Amino acid sequence: MSTNYFKEYPNQEGFYQEYGGAFIPPQLEEEMKKINEAYFAISKSHKFISELRDIRKHFQGRPTPVYHCNRLSQKYGGQIYLKREDLNHTGAHKLNHCMGEALLAKYMGKKKLIAETGAGQHGVALATAAAYFGLECEIHMGEVDIEKEFPNVQRMKILGTKVIPATHGLKTLKEAVDSAFGAYLEDPINSIYCIGSVVGPHPFPMMVRDFQRVVGIEAKDQFFDMTGELPDSIVACVGGGSNAMGIFSAFLDDQECKLYGVEPAGKSLEKLGDHAATMTLGKPGIIHGFKCYMLQDEKGEPAPVHSVASGLDYPGVGPEHSMLKDMNKVSYESISDKECIDAFFELSRLEGIIPALESSHAVAYALKLAKENPKKSILVNLSGRGDKDLDYVIDNYGLPE
Ligand SMILES: *Cc1c(COP(=O)(O)O)cnc(C)c1O
Repeated sequence: MSTNYFKEYPNQEGFYQEYGGAFIPPQLEEEMKKINEAYFAISKSHKFISELRDIRKHFQGRPTPVYHCNRLSQKYGGQIYLKREDLNHTGAHKLNHCMGEALLAKYMGKKKLIAETGAGQHGVALATAAAYFGLECEIHMGEVDIEKEFPNVQRMKILGTKVIPATHGLKTLKEAVDSAFGAYLEDPINSIYCIGSVVGPHPFPMMVRDFQRVVGIEAKDQFFDMTGELPDSIVACVGGGSNAMGIFSAFLDDQECKLYGVEPAGKSLEKLGDHAATMTLGKPGIIHGFKCYMLQDEKGEPAPVHSVASGLDYPGVGPEHSMLKDMNKVSYESISDKECIDAFFELSRLEGIIPALESSHAVAYALKLAKENPKKSILVNLSGRGDKDLDYVIDNYGLPE
């Protein structure tokens, strides 16, 4: 891979080879162009870069540490390290791109941030960014999810955000996207739709990746300072793929580092609807304005998906991941609900770190790798903390002896 990678991908039209692009209604084309131009301008502006750097240091608490797991490595073999995005303010990596998106909104003179949320993690991160910048914020959420994820609904409201229930269809994530999209189309001049991962129409997959690159840049330096080497393997969970792109982006040129993206195998890979293994079992299609690998029903529509980790529960995936799969640059693997829950308890009990169920997928795969390669080092992107998942885990799996 050449050092021109970031100049080559995406191209002018937002394509990563055949994936990505912007398949959107004509009334949004002009607006996406304006967002792209504004982003291009500020990403070269000294003032913007130093403001974002200050925010990361003084508000988010960056850099987050890299941590060597002594007891876990002793038990499983290998040398296992974690990039601690669970220690980023609000408890996950999502604030990295939300602060960037909100800063862009401020620069463009927007008054309101609009987004959808599933489990409420993106909603809370964006509500936090809106409070910081004094912008209005409107989060659309399915009625079913509002009931299921009530603590996050309360957080958003405390932060001053308006939570709008999506009341049609299945009343979950897809309906929340429809509802948020409708609200954005009513006033694209004063508002901006802030996407929650490296997905959606161009320029969002590129912008979100760029805002997440800080994770990989920090982790590479920190790992090298600790060990004098680069990690043999880097492991991250993949929902839309933002935390994975963040850490992978720093290692794309390093042939000796193997990259693993981990998706949910859910209850089983046998039946559509029981998993969200998009890269393993999907085929190229168009969803939410961009082309990517996608789990499809027999009509070619996005298929229903399942995972214990609601942040990984998406039938599409970022276009850049789709390309990296075709290039064989990243291996995409899957981990079942059961393996995820086991890893959740292992990390909690052996290291005193309660991981998010999303991140537990990456931990579970790292444990497999460690057993098979006892002499190698593994760097896991621990994308978030598990406080939000405690009720779910205890209600469904109980406490182990
Ligand atoms: C949302 C979320 C994810 C999945 O999103 P990506 O864009 O794939 O990173 C992973 N981990 C945590 C903790 C999340 O909140």
